Amino acid sequence: MPTCWLVSEDDCHKPVHLPHHHVLTLGRGPETRIKDQKCSRRQVELRADCNKGLISVKQLGTNPTSVDNVVVGKGNQVTLKPGQRLHMVNQLYPYTVSFSEDTSSPTSAREGSKSNKRPLQRDEGEKESPARKVAVSSHREREADDPPLAEKAKPASAEVEPSFSAGHWNQGLKVSMQDPKLQVYKDEKVVVIKDKYPKARHHWLVLPWESIPSLKALRLKHCDLLKHMQHVGGSMVQQCPDGQKLRFRLGYHAIPSMSHVHLHVISQDFDSPCLKNKKHWNSFTTDYFIESEDVIAMLERDGKVAVKDGTSELLKLPLRCHVCHKEQATIPKLKDHLKTHLTS
Ligand code: AMP
Ligand code: ZN
Repeated sequence: MPTCWLVSEDDCHKPVHLPHHHVLTLGRGPETRIKDQKCSRRQVELRADCNKGLISVKQLGTNPTSVDNVVVGKGNQVTLKPGQRLHMVNQLYPYTVSFSEDTSSPTSAREGSKSNKRPLQRDEGEKESPARKVAVSSHREREADDPPLAEKAKPASAEVEPSFSAGHWNQGLKVSMQDPKLQVYKDEKVVVIKDKYPKARHHWLVLPWESIPSLKALRLKHCDLLKHMQHVGGSMVQQCPDGQKLRFRLGYHAIPSMSHVHLHVISQDFDSPCLKNKKHWNSFTTDYFIESEDVIAMLERDGKVAVKDGTSELLKLPLRCHVCHKEQATIPKLKDHLKTHLTS
C-alpha cells in the first residue's frame, strides 16, 4: 500500500507522515512551525485513505482552511488529492499531498521538482469534480426581488437593491461575483455564486472571469469557456444533496436583464418565494431559456448566438405547468399545483 505524506510547499518543515486511516490533527505548533495566532492549534483533522489516494480534510478552526482556494468551512469535510493545494488558514501555509510506494519520507517540496518522487499531478489522478470541493450553504436571500427581466429602465424602487447605488442596477452580478463571501466555487476561468433571488430550491450562476457582456458578444473562441462553464454547473448539481432527487436545467436567458454572461443552474421544483410573477416563470420554462448545450452548438455552427424575433413575447404567455403542461390561472394557483409534482 502506498504511504501518504503531507508536504509543506513553503518547505517550512519535513513532510508529515499520515498513516492509513489514522486521524491526525494539525495546526499551529512545533510540527508545522506555524506561529500565526489566526491558525488554531487544532486547525484541521486529516485522515488518509492510501488505497483511494486521498486525504479527507475537516476544518476544526474558526478561520478558513481552503482546498484549491475554496473554503472548507468550520465543521465541513472535503477531500484533498494529489495535485490539489491545501492552505492551512487564510490562504496561507500551502500543502500538497503525496503518495509514494516507499516508506522513506519524500523529498521536500522544492527538491521534489528535481526528483522522481514528485507528487502526482492533478490530471494523473481521478478527474475531480470541481464543485465537490465546495461547501454550499442552503441559505437563501428572501427579502428583496431582482430587477424585472429584460427591462432596460431602472426598475421600481422596491426591486432595486441598495448596493446598486454604486453603479447601474444591471451591473450587480459583476459586484457579487467578486465578493468572496458569495463565491461557492472558483477556478482560473469561472466563478459560481448563488443567485441572490433564487427561483428554485437550488439556483446558481456560473460566470466567467473574462468580461463578456452578453450572449451577443459570444464568438467561436468562447466555445471552450462555455463548455467549462457547463461542466462546472454540472458538478454543482452532482455535489448537491438534492442532485439525484431533483431535475436541473443549465441554460441562459435569451435576453438577460443583468450584464455579464451567466449560466443559470436551476432545479426544476421552482419552489421559492422569489418566484413571483409571470415573467419569472416564463423566463425559465419557455424557449426564453436556452439550454447551455444549444448555445454551444449554435456557436460552433454559426460562430455567434442569434436570438429569434419575438422572444420577449414569450414572457407574456399564459402560465403553464412545465411538467404536465396544464394551464394555471394565477401564480398562487401555479405554486399550489407545483406541489403536486414534488415528492417531498
Ligand atoms: P438574467 O439576467 O435574466 O439571466 O438573470 C439574472 C439573475 O441574477 C436573476 O436570476 C437574479 O435573481 C440574479 N441576480 C440579480 N442581482 C443579483 C446579484 N446582485 N447577485 C446575484 N444574483 C443576482
Ligand atoms: Zn403540472
